[in-house]
Amino acid sequence: PLPTIYAITPTYSRAVQKAELTRLSNTFRLVPQFHWIVVEDSNARTELVSRFLARSGLPHTHLHVPTPRRYKRPGMPRATEQRNAALGWLRLHRSPKDSGVVFFADDDNTYSVELFDEMRSTRRVSVWPVGLVGGRRYERPLVEKGRVVGWYTGWKANRPFPIDMAGFAVNLKVVLENPRALFKRLGSKPGMQESDFLKQIAKVEDLEPKADNCTRVLVWHTRTEKVNLGNEPKHWQDSVQIEV
Ligand code: UDP
Ligand code: MN
Repeated sequence: PLPTIYAITPTYSRAVQKAELTRLSNTFRLVPQFHWIVVEDSNARTELVSRFLARSGLPHTHLHVPTPRRYKRPGMPRATEQRNAALGWLRLHRSPKDSGVVFFADDDNTYSVELFDEMRSTRRVSVWPVGLVGGRRYERPLVEKGRVVGWYTGWKANRPFPIDMAGFAVNLKVVLENPRALFKRLGSKPGMQESDFLKQIAKVEDLEPKADNCTRVLVWHTRTEKVNLGNEPKHWQDSVQIEV
Protein backbone atom coordinates (compact mmCIF):
# COMPACT_ATOMS: atom_id res chain seq x y z
CA PRO A 1 0.00 0.00 0.00
CA LEU A 2 1.14 3.54 -0.72
CA PRO A 3 2.31 5.65 2.22
CA THR A 4 -0.24 8.36 3.01
CA ILE A 5 0.73 11.90 2.16
CA TYR A 6 -0.16 14.27 5.01
CA ALA A 7 -0.29 17.81 3.66
CA ILE A 8 -0.29 20.43 6.41
CA THR A 9 -1.97 23.66 5.36
CA PRO A 10 -2.14 26.68 7.65
CA THR A 11 -4.86 29.07 6.53
CA TYR A 12 -6.50 32.30 7.68
CA SER A 13 -9.66 34.25 6.90
CA ARG A 14 -9.38 36.79 4.12
CA ALA A 15 -11.17 37.68 0.90
CA VAL A 16 -9.27 35.13 -1.22
CA GLN A 17 -9.28 32.25 1.26
CA LYS A 18 -11.96 30.14 -0.38
CA ALA A 19 -10.45 30.69 -3.83
CA GLU A 20 -7.05 29.52 -2.56
CA LEU A 21 -8.54 26.47 -0.86
CA THR A 22 -10.51 25.63 -4.00
CA ARG A 23 -7.38 25.67 -6.15
CA LEU A 24 -5.57 23.55 -3.61
CA SER A 25 -8.33 20.98 -3.18
CA ASN A 26 -8.65 20.55 -6.94
CA THR A 27 -4.98 19.56 -7.04
CA PHE A 28 -5.14 17.37 -3.95
CA ARG A 29 -8.14 15.47 -5.29
CA LEU A 30 -5.82 14.12 -7.99
CA VAL A 31 -3.45 12.65 -5.41
CA PRO A 32 -4.08 9.09 -4.24
CA GLN A 33 -3.79 8.14 -0.56
CA PHE A 34 -3.88 11.73 0.62
CA HIS A 35 -4.84 13.27 3.96
CA TRP A 36 -5.23 17.02 4.30
CA ILE A 37 -4.51 18.61 7.69
CA VAL A 38 -5.97 22.10 7.57
CA VAL A 39 -5.12 24.35 10.50
CA GLU A 40 -7.00 27.59 10.76
CA ASP A 41 -5.32 30.60 12.31
CA SER A 42 -8.38 31.45 14.40
CA ASN A 43 -10.02 31.09 17.79
CA ALA A 44 -12.40 28.46 16.44
CA ARG A 45 -12.99 26.44 13.33
CA THR A 46 -14.96 28.61 10.91
CA GLU A 47 -18.15 27.62 9.13
CA LEU A 48 -16.61 28.53 5.78
CA VAL A 49 -13.70 26.14 6.11
CA SER A 50 -15.79 23.39 7.76
CA ARG A 51 -18.34 23.43 4.95
CA PHE A 52 -15.62 23.66 2.37
CA LEU A 53 -13.79 20.61 3.67
CA ALA A 54 -16.99 18.59 3.95
CA ARG A 55 -17.84 19.34 0.32
CA SER A 56 -14.30 18.69 -0.90
CA GLY A 57 -14.67 14.95 -0.39
CA LEU A 58 -11.02 14.81 0.70
CA PRO A 59 -9.93 12.85 3.76
CA HIS A 60 -9.07 15.64 6.18
CA THR A 61 -8.46 16.81 9.71
CA HIS A 62 -9.62 20.28 10.63
CA LEU A 63 -7.75 22.02 13.44
CA HIS A 64 -7.43 25.59 14.64
CA VAL A 65 -5.07 27.63 16.78
CA PRO A 66 -4.80 31.40 16.84
CA THR A 67 -1.47 33.12 16.32
CA PRO A 68 -0.80 35.25 19.42
CA ARG A 69 -1.38 38.92 18.55
CA ARG A 70 2.21 39.87 19.31
CA TYR A 71 3.38 37.63 16.48
CA LYS A 72 1.05 39.10 13.85
CA ARG A 73 3.57 41.66 12.68
CA PRO A 74 5.44 42.21 9.41
CA GLY A 75 8.72 40.37 9.38
CA MET A 76 7.50 37.75 11.85
CA PRO A 77 7.34 34.17 10.58
CA ARG A 78 3.81 33.08 9.73
CA ALA A 79 1.89 29.99 10.73
CA THR A 80 4.37 28.64 13.28
CA GLU A 81 1.66 27.65 15.78
CA GLN A 82 -0.52 26.14 13.06
CA ARG A 83 2.21 23.87 11.66
CA ASN A 84 3.12 22.79 15.18
CA ALA A 85 -0.51 21.97 15.96
CA ALA A 86 -0.57 19.66 12.94
CA LEU A 87 2.66 17.96 14.06
CA GLY A 88 1.11 17.53 17.50
CA TRP A 89 -1.97 15.94 15.95
CA LEU A 90 0.15 13.46 13.99
CA ARG A 91 2.12 12.53 17.11
CA LEU A 92 -1.12 11.87 19.02
CA HIS A 93 -3.09 10.12 16.32
CA ARG A 94 -0.53 8.25 14.25
CA SER A 95 1.94 5.55 15.24
CA PRO A 96 5.06 3.99 13.70
CA LYS A 97 2.94 1.33 12.03
CA ASP A 98 1.26 4.00 9.89
CA SER A 99 3.35 4.72 6.82
CA GLY A 100 3.25 8.31 5.72
CA VAL A 101 5.04 11.37 4.40
CA VAL A 102 4.52 14.84 5.85
CA PHE A 103 4.60 17.95 3.68
CA PHE A 104 3.94 21.63 4.47
CA ALA A 105 1.55 22.98 1.85
CA ASP A 106 0.84 26.69 2.23
CA ASP A 107 -2.57 27.64 0.85
CA ASP A 108 -1.32 30.04 -1.85
CA ASN A 109 1.39 27.98 -3.56
CA THR A 110 0.99 26.03 -6.80
CA TYR A 111 1.59 22.29 -6.71
CA SER A 112 2.13 19.90 -9.59
CA VAL A 113 0.46 16.53 -9.12
CA GLU A 114 3.84 14.98 -9.99
CA LEU A 115 5.36 16.49 -6.87
CA PHE A 116 3.37 14.06 -4.75
CA ASP A 117 4.65 11.04 -6.71
CA GLU A 118 8.16 12.31 -6.02
CA MET A 119 7.78 12.90 -2.29
CA ARG A 120 5.94 9.65 -1.63
CA SER A 121 9.19 7.66 -1.59
CA THR A 122 10.75 9.88 1.10
CA ARG A 123 12.65 7.62 3.49
CA ARG A 124 13.71 10.30 6.00
CA VAL A 125 13.83 13.84 4.56
CA SER A 126 13.62 14.66 0.86
CA VAL A 127 14.22 17.93 -1.02
CA TRP A 128 13.57 19.44 -4.46
CA PRO A 129 13.58 22.80 -6.25
CA VAL A 130 10.99 25.52 -5.61
CA GLY A 131 10.04 28.04 -8.29
CA LEU A 132 9.54 31.79 -7.91
CA VAL A 133 11.21 32.21 -4.56
CA GLY A 134 14.11 34.00 -2.89
CA GLY A 135 14.22 36.73 -5.51
CA ARG A 136 15.01 34.20 -8.23
CA ARG A 137 13.16 32.13 -10.81
CA TYR A 138 13.90 29.17 -8.60
CA GLU A 139 16.04 27.86 -5.77
CA ARG A 140 17.35 24.32 -5.68
CA PRO A 141 19.65 21.92 -3.87
CA LEU A 142 22.81 21.16 -5.85
CA VAL A 143 23.29 17.44 -6.27
CA GLU A 144 26.39 15.39 -6.98
CA LYS A 145 26.37 11.59 -7.11
CA GLY A 146 22.91 11.52 -5.58
CA ARG A 147 23.88 13.72 -2.60
CA VAL A 148 23.08 17.32 -1.76
CA VAL A 149 26.40 19.18 -1.85
CA GLY A 150 25.22 22.79 -1.88
CA TRP A 151 22.46 25.17 -2.79
CA TYR A 152 21.52 27.45 -5.66
CA THR A 153 19.98 30.37 -3.79
CA GLY A 154 20.21 34.13 -3.84
CA TRP A 155 18.90 34.86 -0.37
CA LYS A 156 20.63 34.31 2.97
CA ALA A 157 22.84 31.64 1.47
CA ASN A 158 24.44 30.98 4.86
CA ARG A 159 21.26 29.43 6.24
CA PRO A 160 21.94 25.80 7.30
CA PHE A 161 19.08 24.66 5.03
CA PRO A 162 18.46 27.45 2.50
CA ILE A 163 15.17 25.99 1.35
CA ASP A 164 11.55 27.09 1.26
CA MET A 165 8.79 25.40 3.28
CA ALA A 166 7.49 23.92 0.01
CA GLY A 167 10.86 22.37 -0.84
CA PHE A 168 10.98 19.37 1.47
CA ALA A 169 9.03 16.42 2.91
CA VAL A 170 9.59 14.31 6.00
CA ASN A 171 8.73 10.68 6.57
CA LEU A 172 6.09 10.30 9.27
CA LYS A 173 8.38 8.04 11.29
CA VAL A 174 10.96 10.86 11.51
CA VAL A 175 8.23 13.15 12.86
CA LEU A 176 7.31 10.50 15.44
CA GLU A 177 10.92 9.65 16.35
CA ASN A 178 11.64 13.32 17.10
CA PRO A 179 8.68 14.30 19.26
CA ARG A 180 10.24 17.63 20.21
CA ALA A 181 11.01 18.78 16.68
CA LEU A 182 8.86 21.87 16.16
CA PHE A 183 8.84 25.22 14.43
CA LYS A 184 10.07 27.84 16.81
CA ARG A 185 9.17 31.37 17.75
CA LEU A 186 11.72 32.12 20.44
CA GLY A 187 15.04 33.16 19.00
CA SER A 188 13.87 32.57 15.45
CA LYS A 189 15.21 34.94 12.83
CA PRO A 190 13.39 35.90 9.61
CA GLY A 191 13.69 33.19 6.99
CA MET A 192 15.00 30.63 9.48
CA GLN A 193 11.79 28.64 10.04
CA GLU A 194 12.78 25.87 7.66
CA SER A 195 16.40 25.71 8.86
CA ASP A 196 15.48 25.75 12.54
CA PHE A 197 13.08 22.87 11.95
CA LEU A 198 15.25 20.77 9.63
CA LYS A 199 18.31 21.14 11.89
CA GLN A 200 16.41 19.11 14.48
CA ILE A 201 15.77 16.13 12.21
CA ALA A 202 18.28 16.00 9.36
CA LYS A 203 21.84 16.43 8.16
CA VAL A 204 22.49 17.99 4.78
CA GLU A 205 24.42 14.92 3.60
CA ASP A 206 21.46 12.66 4.31
CA LEU A 207 18.87 14.67 2.35
CA GLU A 208 17.23 12.69 -0.45
CA PRO A 209 17.10 14.64 -3.73
CA LYS A 210 13.85 14.27 -5.71
CA ALA A 211 12.62 15.60 -9.06
CA ASP A 212 15.44 14.24 -11.25
CA ASN A 213 18.25 15.12 -8.89
CA CYS A 214 16.62 18.48 -8.17
CA THR A 215 16.55 19.62 -11.79
CA ARG A 216 12.77 20.00 -12.17
CA VAL A 217 10.48 22.61 -10.63
CA LEU A 218 7.24 20.96 -9.48
CA VAL A 219 6.10 23.56 -6.95
CA TRP A 220 5.90 27.34 -7.17
CA HIS A 221 5.90 29.85 -4.35
CA THR A 222 3.11 31.89 -5.93
CA ARG A 223 1.52 34.71 -3.97
CA THR A 224 -1.93 36.06 -4.52
CA GLU A 225 -2.46 39.74 -5.07
CA LYS A 226 -4.42 41.53 -2.37
CA VAL A 227 -7.97 42.06 -3.62
CA ASN A 228 -9.35 45.52 -4.16
CA LEU A 229 -12.56 45.82 -2.13
CA GLY A 230 -12.72 49.58 -2.55
CA ASN A 231 -16.18 49.41 -4.08
CA GLU A 232 -17.84 47.36 -1.37
CA PRO A 233 -21.05 49.18 -0.38
CA LYS A 234 -20.97 50.97 2.94
CA HIS A 235 -24.70 50.85 3.63
CA TRP A 236 -26.73 49.09 0.96
CA GLN A 237 -26.58 45.34 1.31
CA ASP A 238 -27.42 42.70 -1.24
CA SER A 239 -30.74 40.95 -0.74
CA VAL A 240 -28.99 37.63 -0.11
CA GLN A 241 -25.93 36.67 1.91
CA ILE A 242 -23.35 35.10 -0.33
CA GLU A 243 -20.22 33.29 0.79
CA VAL A 244 -17.26 34.14 -1.44
N1 UDP B 1 -0.98 32.25 7.33
C1 UDP B 1 -1.67 32.13 8.52
N2 UDP B 1 -1.87 33.24 9.30
C2 UDP B 1 -1.40 34.48 8.94
C3 UDP B 1 -0.69 34.60 7.72
C4 UDP B 1 -0.49 33.46 6.95
O1 UDP B 1 -2.10 31.03 8.87
O2 UDP B 1 -1.62 35.45 9.68
C5 UDP B 1 -0.78 31.05 6.49
C6 UDP B 1 -1.14 31.26 5.02
O3 UDP B 1 -2.50 30.96 4.79
C7 UDP B 1 -0.17 30.31 4.32
C8 UDP B 1 1.05 30.30 5.25
O4 UDP B 1 0.60 30.75 6.50
O5 UDP B 1 -0.71 29.01 4.23
C9 UDP B 1 2.17 31.21 4.76
O6 UDP B 1 1.68 32.53 4.67
P1 UDP B 1 1.93 33.44 3.39
O7 UDP B 1 1.56 32.67 2.16
O8 UDP B 1 1.24 34.74 3.60
O9 UDP B 1 3.51 33.63 3.48
P2 UDP B 1 4.56 33.98 2.33
O10 UDP B 1 4.15 33.26 1.09
O11 UDP B 1 4.47 35.44 2.19
O12 UDP B 1 5.84 33.49 2.89
MN1 MN C 1 2.64 32.19 0.44
